[in-house]
Amino acid sequence: MISKPEKSSRKEKARILISKNSRAVDLAREAFPMTCPVCNSESELAGPGYCPAHQRAFENIRQAVEKWTLAYGNLTLPDFLQRVEKAPGIGPKAKEIARFLFENPSRWK
Ligand SMILES: [Zn+2]
Repeated sequence: MISKPEKSSRKEKARILISKNSRAVDLAREAFPMTCPVCNSESELAGPGYCPAHQRAFENIRQAVEKWTLAYGNLTLPDFLQRVEKAPGIGPKAKEIARFLFENPSRWK
């Protein structure tokens, strides 16, 4: 019987192709710009990678937490974020980021 070496070499080619593709995915992931974790729009900002609108909302919330902690006394971060979400007169972006931080407290720094 004649062996068919082309079959195994085709398999080998496929294996190389797969490993090349997974490397390309890794490279693409590294090179891909960061996306805002709240709304998934692209962000070129360093740091947590929020889009400009959510970055601004995040800064506002950070300033607000100091005032609110003074006003309410012992206010924990989850309490504060829940109050922000329910408070009237707070912009939708700030509420979105409050919800995001409530669900991802490790992002609060
Ligand atoms: Zn965003």
